[in-house]
Amino acid sequence: MAIAGATTAMVSPPLVPIALLGSTAPDWLEWVLEAAGQKVKHRSVTHYVAGWGIGLAFFLGLYDFHHIGAAFFYGGLTHVLADSFTVSGVPFSPHSDRRFHLFGGRLRTGAAGEYMVAWSIVACCFLVKVAISPGNGWYPFFYDWAGLYERGIIDGSEWKANRFRFF
Ligand SMILES: [Zn+2]
Repeated sequence: MAIAGATTAMVSPPLVPIALLGSTAPDWLEWVLEAAGQKVKHRSVTHYVAGWGIGLAFFLGLYDFHHIGAAFFYGGLTHVLADSFTVSGVPFSPHSDRRFHLFGGRLRTGAAGEYMVAWSIVACCFLVKVAISPGNGWYPFFYDWAGLYERGIIDGSEWKANRFRFF
């Protein structure tokens, strides 16, 4: 949640709650499936790295309503990638039996290393944010094309031409 929240806050603070919802989704979706009568093993179907990655790519590239879908899947992706730092890892896709690990999968859930990684990322985000936005809220990525259009800074054709350019 710290990783998803801090990185999303850099790009778009209003999307933080959606990203937080997404960042916990791989775990709460397990309860939802269980409640619906499906037995799920922890860190299985809801933890496919490929699934969250493809979802994010879909919403970024094809269709997105105010980036809500992208923020949700981005949150989920940070969750499964963070899980992949741990000893038990996560499955990459339904077609791979091997567990997916990042950085050797050395961390243990709840141990000190986990907090160090999470808070280091939060600290980096904070520093980068301070460095790139000297009070004017300008970011080098995720231009708010719709916002620029609404404020009359660009016209409709510029918005149309640029709305899918994220960087
Ligand atoms: Zn998990």
